[in-house]
Amino acid sequence: MGKKTPLRELSGQFGRITHVNSDVNGTEWMLAGNCQDYSPSTFFPSDGVGVDAARAICQDCPVKDRCREYALAERIEHGVWGGCSERERRRILKRRKLETISA
Ligand code: SF4
Repeated sequence: MGKKTPLRELSGQFGRITHVNSDVNGTEWMLAGNCQDYSPSTFFPSDGVGVDAARAICQDCPVKDRCREYALAERIEHGVWGGCSERERRRILKRRKLETISA
C-alpha cells in the first residue's frame, strides 16, 4: 500500500514525539505497528470513513493497547491511535476521571 512511514515520524508533526528510546515512556514499540506500511495521512482522517479505515488497520496491530495508552497518557488530541478516534479517547479519559473520583 502506501510508503513505509513509522508512526513516530507522523506523530512528530505535533512536536511531541521526536525520538525513539527504550525507556518506559519510549516509542520503540511504534516500530512494530501496522501503520509502518501506510501513509501518515491515513491516521489523520478528515471524516468518519477515514477513521473507520484507520481503525481497520489498527484492529490486529500487535501494539494496539500500548499505542492507545500512549496517546491517552500524552494527551494526543489528533488522529487515530490504538484503534481509537479523538472522540473515543476523550470519552475514555472522561470515564477514567469519573472512575477515579468515585473510587
Ligand atoms: S494501533 Fe494503529 S496507530 Fe497504533 S501502532 Fe498500531 S497501527 Fe499504528
